[in-house]
Amino acid sequence: MLKATCHCGAVSVAIPRRPRSLTNCNCSICRRYGSLWAYYPLAEVQVEAAPGVLQSYQWGDCMLDFMRCGHCGCIVQWRPVAPTAQSRTGINARMFDPELIGDVKIRRLDGAKTWKVLKD
Ligand SMILES: [Zn+2]
Repeated sequence: MLKATCHCGAVSVAIPRRPRSLTNCNCSICRRYGSLWAYYPLAEVQVEAAPGVLQSYQWGDCMLDFMRCGHCGCIVQWRPVAPTAQSRTGINARMFDPELIGDVKIRRLDGAKTWKVLKD
């Protein structure tokens, strides 16, 4: 179990294991957030915050909630608006100490156009 918090500490996140890779996506929202996503089954991550702290943003077909801390603004997670038992989530690995995940391989995803992983 690896743990992290947003910058102010109001939101805490726990993931079950080190990610094998992180995803740097160039779609219209990820490039603005500057997030690096680590993917897990939704049921395997814990996101905890005091009531009212987490805020969400939806866009496009509104299938995902992009969750952020309402105090410091850090992007924490995307998750399905209507989750199922098989749902996955993206955790923003930027919240984690670089000593924990700094050497994990980063793959560049062309989420803006082809939805394929870009070659370096
Ligand atoms: Zn915060």
